[in-house]
Amino acid sequence: MSPEERERYARHILLKEVGGQGQQKLLAARVLVVGAGGLGSPILSYLAAAGVGTIGVADSDVVSLSNLQRQTLFRTEDIGREKTEAAKDAIKRLNPHVKIIMHPRIADENAAGVIADYNLVVEGVDNFETRYALNRACIVEKKPLVSAAVGRFAGQLSTFKPYEKPCALPCYRCLVPEEPPREEQVNCAEEGVLGAVTGVMGTLAAMEVLKELLGVGDSLAGRLMIYDGLGASFRTIALPADPACADCGAQTPSES
Ligand SMILES: [Zn+2]
Repeated sequence: MSPEERERYARHILLKEVGGQGQQKLLAARVLVVGAGGLGSPILSYLAAAGVGTIGVADSDVVSLSNLQRQTLFRTEDIGREKTEAAKDAIKRLNPHVKIIMHPRIADENAAGVIADYNLVVEGVDNFETRYALNRACIVEKKPLVSAAVGRFAGQLSTFKPYEKPCALPCYRCLVPEEPPREEQVNCAEEGVLGAVTGVMGTLAAMEVLKELLGVGDSLAGRLMIYDGLGASFRTIALPADPACADCGAQTPSES
């Protein structure tokens, strides 16, 4: 680390759970962030500030006026720009050492190929199609998936590592086996979301990513954290693996 980096990350290095070695791990880490929106904004900000060395940003949208109520990475003058381009500029202003790789929309066809280059995937997307594609690809590539979702005044968060043995940990599809009917889906565009809720859940997602990269604390794998913003409360429930899961069922170890 250069003297400039030692000063930049001084508050990390002071933590005995991080230290110089932990900071080196972050500098060497490669994280794919899928969705540069309300959740992606704090995720990208905190990972870049923390010195995660390579950050992939996947999003195919452009910045719109109605994004700015919660997508704090962007400014009014970014309206109409590609989110990946605007996010790259914002991250570079925050930490010029971070290498940014921009990706288009992640789908079943390209997910495994993109994910293969990263240590971990974190997503804050607004559709089930992308979530399922990421889940399947992360199982194939054996990469941890940190997944956050928000709607109205609430949010949820978990980490999925179904490939880890001997424990049978759940995947995203163990939690959501089938895409809910359209009319039951909570969608920010239709239902609304208080902007600060995306800040809470995105920041918590960044926290879980950093814990996984550093190998400290208790992973959220096998648990689901639920935030009730109006009630000002969190609860964390156990999330069992589903042996009949269409995506990870076959992964459930029987030999060990
Ligand atoms: Zn599963």
